[in-house]
Amino acid sequence: MSSGTIETAILSPTQENLDWLADWIRKGGVAALPTETVYGLAADALNTGALRQIFEIKRRPLYDPLIVHVENGEKLLEWAEINEDLRRTVLTLIERFSPGPLTYVLPKKSWVPELLTAGRPTLALRIPAHPLFREILRRSSLALAAPSANPFGYLSPTLARHVRESLGGKLHYILDGGDCTVGLESTILDLSRSPMRILRPGKITREEIQSVLPDKEIAGYIHEELDDTVSPMAPGMLRRHYSPRTPLCLFFKMEELPLAKEENVARVFLSRKDREEVLGNDFFLSEEGDGMQVAKRLFSLLRELDTSHSYEKIYCQCPPSHGLGTAIADRLCRAAGLPKKGP
Ligand code: AMP
Ligand code: MG
Repeated sequence: MSSGTIETAILSPTQENLDWLADWIRKGGVAALPTETVYGLAADALNTGALRQIFEIKRRPLYDPLIVHVENGEKLLEWAEINEDLRRTVLTLIERFSPGPLTYVLPKKSWVPELLTAGRPTLALRIPAHPLFREILRRSSLALAAPSANPFGYLSPTLARHVRESLGGKLHYILDGGDCTVGLESTILDLSRSPMRILRPGKITREEIQSVLPDKEIAGYIHEELDDTVSPMAPGMLRRHYSPRTPLCLFFKMEELPLAKEENVARVFLSRKDREEVLGNDFFLSEEGDGMQVAKRLFSLLRELDTSHSYEKIYCQCPPSHGLGTAIADRLCRAAGLPKKGP
């Protein structure tokens, strides 16, 4: 699948390579780095030339804003233009959820490059937890824009080789951090509006956020049908996103699984439990139906079925939309191009 002329190296995380990558990025280069959510395509958030490269490599439309990754809460607040009340709320959330997979959308400072925000008055910021990403932040002393390191609209990468499979030939370096522990993109919380709203569900759930802000109203994730041509609040809101090329059909209950034994169809189940008869084209996201494990394997298994087999269709079981199931069901519905989530 590689195209382009650049030789793409997967670098092991030695001290020397970390210094090299920090320097490469400081000089305006782009590199794929592991985060706890998915691999990111990282560049200096204040270097517009480097930011343009991110959009080109991903073929990402310019209306889709980027997330800026910073080392700590103090640095995060430098980018935001907020009043004391909002500052206290953000600090409460940071204390509980950061570093980690929660992205804060906040009113931005006037000097923030338009390319980061797609011209919006708000900026998305996150403090990542992955030790290697944090090392690059520390060694470069930069804030890094880092959208998922995949072609726009395709499944997000959770292994270094996923990045090379789909972006090989377009970037020089991928830092190998093994597999991502979360496996789904961050939860995005828009704090610039009242009530605050979840723009993209992720590992950190609305219920968890509510539990540390008991007096604040948090609007749920909007998932009504959207016109893909208008600028969405978050690209996770595009009807079709995170998609394999092989057609994907979702089922919610076993009884709805239409085809039992067709050879050229893959069947993906959330759990191996209760499956008495297992066919050669049956796959399991988790042995016990553990949500964290399902999330971690979801993109990786769909990618494998999409690229290493010649299935004509993938049937995948969709979890109910609560807790972590909200994020998993959301990604599955986007991947299947469905406008609404299931039950
Ligand atoms: P990615 O890292 O490729 O998964 O994409 C970054 C995510 O952050 C996208 O879903 C963006 O739309 C979202 N995002 C970035 N900036 C903003 C913003 N100012 N308002 C709303 N969503 C944003
Ligand atoms: Mg993405």
